[in-house]
Amino acid sequence: MKILAIGAHPDDIEAGCSGTLAKYARNGHDIYMLIMTEGHMGGEGSTRKKEQKRSAKILKPRELIWGGYKDTLLTPHMNQMVHDIEVVLKKIAPDFIFVHYEDDTHQDHRALAKATISATRYVRNVLFYEGPTTQNFSPAVFVDIRETLDDKVAMLHGTLFTGSEDQYRGCINNGHRPLFSRLSRNPGTGPVRGGFRSTASVYQYLTVLLKVKIQTAK
Ligand SMILES: [Zn+2]
Repeated sequence: MKILAIGAHPDDIEAGCSGTLAKYARNGHDIYMLIMTEGHMGGEGSTRKKEQKRSAKILKPRELIWGGYKDTLLTPHMNQMVHDIEVVLKKIAPDFIFVHYEDDTHQDHRALAKATISATRYVRNVLFYEGPTTQNFSPAVFVDIRETLDDKVAMLHGTLFTGSEDQYRGCINNGHRPLFSRLSRNPGTGPVRGGFRSTASVYQYLTVLLKVKIQTAK
C-alpha cells in the first residue's frame, strides 16, 4: 500500500503518527511524506530540513516532498494548498492519508487540515493524527505501536522536537509510554484518551462507523 503522511512542519508527522508509519514501513509498504514548511520559526529552516531528512531515514520514505510554504503563513494560501495537495494525491494515489486534526491551536495545523479535507474530498481513508497542540480530539482508531515505539522516540529526537517537555512527554510519555498512535476520523465517537495508556488492552481495532481497515501487515 501507499501511505501519505502530511504535516505542516518538521516534527509534526513524527509526533503525530510516526509509530504507525514505522509499522507500515517495516511491513514493506511505501511511505510518502509531504511537509508544507521548513519550520523556520522553530529553528533555522535548513537545519530543520536536515533533521527531517535524518528522521526520515528510519522510515525510508519513497519520497519526502516539501511544500515550499513559509512557517506560520499557511492560512492565507488555502486555495493554493488545496491545489498542491491535489497534485500530490494525483501523483501518488495513496491508500491511506494521515494529517493534522483541524481543531488545533496552531494556525498552520488548522489550515493544513482544512486544505487536506478539501483536497481529499473524493479520497477514502483520511485519518487525523493528534499532536501536542491538538484540541478536543476523541480518537476512534488505535494502532498498537509497541514494536515501533523506539523508532518513534528516535525520530522525535532526530527532528529536535520543538515542543515543551510536557508536550514531548505527551508524545512519548516516558513514564507511561503510550502504546498507540492515536488517530481519529470522526470526533465524538469511540473511546477517549482514558483508554490509551492502558497496557492491559493492547490491540488494534476500528469502529464500524469508520469502515476502513488499518492493516499494517502485508
Ligand atoms: Zn507543527
